[in-house]
Amino acid sequence: MTGPTATAAVSWRDVSKVYPDGYEALCSVSLDVAPGEVLAVLGTSGSGKTTLLKTVNRLIDPTSGEVIVRGRPTKDWDPIALRRSIGYVIQEVGLLPHLNVLANIGIVPRLLGTPRPEWEAKGTELLSLVGLDPEKYGKRRPRELSGGQRQRVGVARALAADPDLILMDEPFGALDPITRGELQNEFRALQRRLGKTVIVVTHDIREAFRIADRLALMDHGKLVQVGTGAELRANPASEFVRLFLADAGAVEVEHAMD
Ligand code: ADP
Ligand code: MG
Repeated sequence: MTGPTATAAVSWRDVSKVYPDGYEALCSVSLDVAPGEVLAVLGTSGSGKTTLLKTVNRLIDPTSGEVIVRGRPTKDWDPIALRRSIGYVIQEVGLLPHLNVLANIGIVPRLLGTPRPEWEAKGTELLSLVGLDPEKYGKRRPRELSGGQRQRVGVARALAADPDLILMDEPFGALDPITRGELQNEFRALQRRLGKTVIVVTHDIREAFRIADRLALMDHGKLVQVGTGAELRANPASEFVRLFLADAGAVEVEHAMD
């Protein structure tokens, strides 16, 4: 599962990113994500997590090195085609306020020319999947939903074009702890059913333990350590890793039992 393989869903090969002001946000990151894996990218604020994630769907191109998606370097992909083939969930969701929930979920299928009855049927199915009653919520506007409900719609939207790969950037970060815990558990159950590859950025070690198979810990643009939670705890590469993990004790037990 480590080491470069031809079958990785995503590979970063020696990826660096220097922003125009000269700041090096990523320093020689190399990492493979296996198909069907949930990888949590962890680190303090400003450590380069979002930058790393955005190199996958070409919202950001590396300064050097390459990112390989489904065996093909991102520079060889049409950015729009690449982006539409990858689900993307962000904290502020980015739902379009003038469209109802079903139309928001169907945004990529609509852009791809899917007929209305099909994207509506798919949206209805996805709403149920993320725990929202389609009858009740399908025709509402985003502002008529709670934060947790909007975040569920964001997840449904990311699934709408049936992507094999989903990127999530602090997806549950804006929610209260109870809603957040519920969504984390539901997300994990959903991912087990669907088997998608997921790369999820979080600064919350507990969230990472709840939802991810492996953790990739970033510090100042460098990948510090990658492994399962148990591996990192048993053998932290540095004091930084040890301190970062120190907060996850209670969750590890919980995760082992589910
Ligand atoms: P994280 O998601 O881990 O909080 P980011 O990847 O967003 O971190 O940012 C990493 C670093 O790069 C931060 O120090 C941030 O200020 C800097 N940065 C992000 N975007 C830009 C940009 N467009 N220009 C210059 N610096 C940037
Ligand atoms: Mg970020």
